[in-house]
Amino acid sequence: MRNKQNWMRKLLMAGAVTGLGLSVAAPGLSQPTAAIGQPNLPLPKQETVSIVQLEIPNDKAKEKLFELGIDLTHRIHEHDGKMEVDAVVTPSEIASLKLHGIQVKDTLITESQWNARTAEREAASQLQSTLTASEDTIKILRASHYTNQSDTFLYVEAKTSAGDTASTALTANWTENGVDKSATLNRFVDYGEYIYHYFEVPVTAVPSSVKITSNLGGTASSAITEWLGADKPGNTKKHYVTNFVDHYMTPAELYERAERLADEFPDLVEIIEMPNKTNGYRRVAQATVGATTNSAVVVSSKAWGHEGGNDISVEFKNPGTSNSPLNVAVEGKNISVNLATDADGKTSSTARQVVDALNSEAKSLVAAATYRGNAGTGVVVPANAKLSDNLNAPENVSREPMTVKAIRIGKHRDGSKPGVLGYAQEHAREWVTPLVTIETAERLLRNYAHDGETKQLVNNLDIFLIPSVNPDGANYSFYDFNMQRKNMTNHCAPTQSDPGYRTSWGVDLNRNHSIGSAFDGFVGASTTNCLSGTYAGPAENSEPEAKNLVWLANQFENINLAMNIHSYGGYFMWSPGAYDPNRTTLPRPSAGEEAFYWAASDNILNDIQDHRGTVILPSRTGPIPDVLYSAAGNSADYLWYEKGIYAWNFEVGADLWDKEANRWRAVGFQPAYEEGHEEAMEFANGLIGLLKVAYSNSKDKQPPSTKAVPGSGKFNGPVHVGFDTNEAATIYYTLDGNRPTFKSQKLQLSGTREPAETLKIEKTTTINWFAVDPAGNIEKNYNPLTNAKNFNSVTISIKD
Ligand SMILES: [Zn+2]
Repeated sequence: MRNKQNWMRKLLMAGAVTGLGLSVAAPGLSQPTAAIGQPNLPLPKQETVSIVQLEIPNDKAKEKLFELGIDLTHRIHEHDGKMEVDAVVTPSEIASLKLHGIQVKDTLITESQWNARTAEREAASQLQSTLTASEDTIKILRASHYTNQSDTFLYVEAKTSAGDTASTALTANWTENGVDKSATLNRFVDYGEYIYHYFEVPVTAVPSSVKITSNLGGTASSAITEWLGADKPGNTKKHYVTNFVDHYMTPAELYERAERLADEFPDLVEIIEMPNKTNGYRRVAQATVGATTNSAVVVSSKAWGHEGGNDISVEFKNPGTSNSPLNVAVEGKNISVNLATDADGKTSSTARQVVDALNSEAKSLVAAATYRGNAGTGVVVPANAKLSDNLNAPENVSREPMTVKAIRIGKHRDGSKPGVLGYAQEHAREWVTPLVTIETAERLLRNYAHDGETKQLVNNLDIFLIPSVNPDGANYSFYDFNMQRKNMTNHCAPTQSDPGYRTSWGVDLNRNHSIGSAFDGFVGASTTNCLSGTYAGPAENSEPEAKNLVWLANQFENINLAMNIHSYGGYFMWSPGAYDPNRTTLPRPSAGEEAFYWAASDNILNDIQDHRGTVILPSRTGPIPDVLYSAAGNSADYLWYEKGIYAWNFEVGADLWDKEANRWRAVGFQPAYEEGHEEAMEFANGLIGLLKVAYSNSKDKQPPSTKAVPGSGKFNGPVHVGFDTNEAATIYYTLDGNRPTFKSQKLQLSGTREPAETLKIEKTTTINWFAVDPAGNIEKNYNPLTNAKNFNSVTISIKD
């Protein structure tokens, strides 16, 4: 077993296992640096990837998964006492997993299914751009008032020529007793077909006319008549508009939508451009020329592909004469290599010799290397190649470093209101997650004028939404490789930088942070394997995308709640997010903090359920290591431990119950849009639920009150003293008679997923304590920083 492990490790170091294009060589064959006897193998073919369900027989096998750098999704499932995880793997990876007793149970999603999602998205986005390119025309179908037993209502239906896309929004304006009123219309879609927009709100006086304006510029007006029909629309539910996304959106679309909202609602929105630009959706142009490991030459342009690299061509040719020396000629962007010939006129240059010649004579255009660290003793055969950056996005997708944008929403954006942060798409392939933020932004802005609760949230909170933390990776996922998880920065050495590895480069942005990191020895990320799905980067906080989040948290110190939005599996989690190899976690939140995490979760999960009944299971709610796996260096841990921000993680996309098969089914990263849309709606509910928690927390001026149970008294033997609290609150206590302060012991949980601990008192002891709620209110307004004495105190007397 040990030998096998060493062998696997060696392959890992040589970059032969993980990611695309890996080859699993037989043991003993992998000797990357030995020139003699190096086998000359065909270059590995690019492999397809799929999401499969793996059955993990034990913890050792689970650790193996991490060690091999297998790209796990966020979904782990206990089933009949065995652990199942979903993983993104190639056929060769499956073969190597089998060596460790890990079995593939089920193929969940294949590459062709992902490609169908891409096609679906492109069609929808094309439709949107044609519909929204010019001003729309609006027809008012009905504008009525009616009075029923409960109130007088205004009801309007209008149809826009651009109604087939959810980014088209209609606003109604009217006057009631001299006061200007407005409301956003609901978009009504039935079985995928746009019918019309409508709204229905109570009015205090019947207006004479209503004007409808579109965000594309169209307008229409109508007089208001009394509704005389028999079946009056008697719906007295409050008017609240939703449903503003209708396809998966690229970073360009997301940021453009954000900018449009800022233009339309200048009093409520601003766009924050974060300071650290990304690498950009760009690569150097490359080609691996040759067919075998010993004779192939990897050529990489010095310029980015779009800046000239893609124009470079390389030709290896037989000059047609015998005893000719190796030489390199560069003409414009064409590199011509005359291979050396022997007395018979046969080519004799080795890969190593050609690499050296290119690096000497064509170094202004390219850098060359042998294949994956091979000695390069094989004779190069005539061939030619055009270099390519292999990026397939249309030219209008920017190749430049990107500025990551955040949408800031609030009536008072001066730092005086409590801040709430929602951020999405750290992992590029999680296409639903940005929609959650856009839907949330639209709901807040388009319900503001007519919905009192929305107005309260926007007036009293400072809301930060980052639709896509990782725009470069997102572009790569949309246009090149659906399963892209990481960013686009390649930190691999030249031996792992041939284009066969191009889908495995990049840094996992949810592993690059500085708390509980892999660099500090925590589990669940790799510091050494740049091709791993959970590569932590060359150093903590090395990546611009991670730095941006740190910058935001530092810049806006009023942020005190945060949601990191991922997919899939339907999880709701918080710190600690990582443990060390002994399974010792980062410090657990205190009992009071944990109580607040749970209490807030209850509100948020209820709001999620309201949409279509999705229940986030109790087994998928709680601190990360209790319900999922260790994620060293994740961003939520950074926010909680370093910035004191209550930081949750959503995994949108709860499993769906398959009635016929009588089992739960995973939805995947890129479900058919119909399902993705439902996930966006329900988790926008959840994100707004978090805002409601923040708002009610901000209104909380009532100090907590607590009671020790039992209280002061005489006891015959050891006593367990617990604390009753009237709300989630952290208890700071002393047992030595001293005043309690913020440096005193905090009451902890008694164990994983258990209630607060009790204090075991064995000899006569005075317990002094105070409690603090999540809003910062201190019991009895006690001030631990002064000499105040109004803390709580009980004395437990124990008879000897
Ligand atoms: Zn993720």
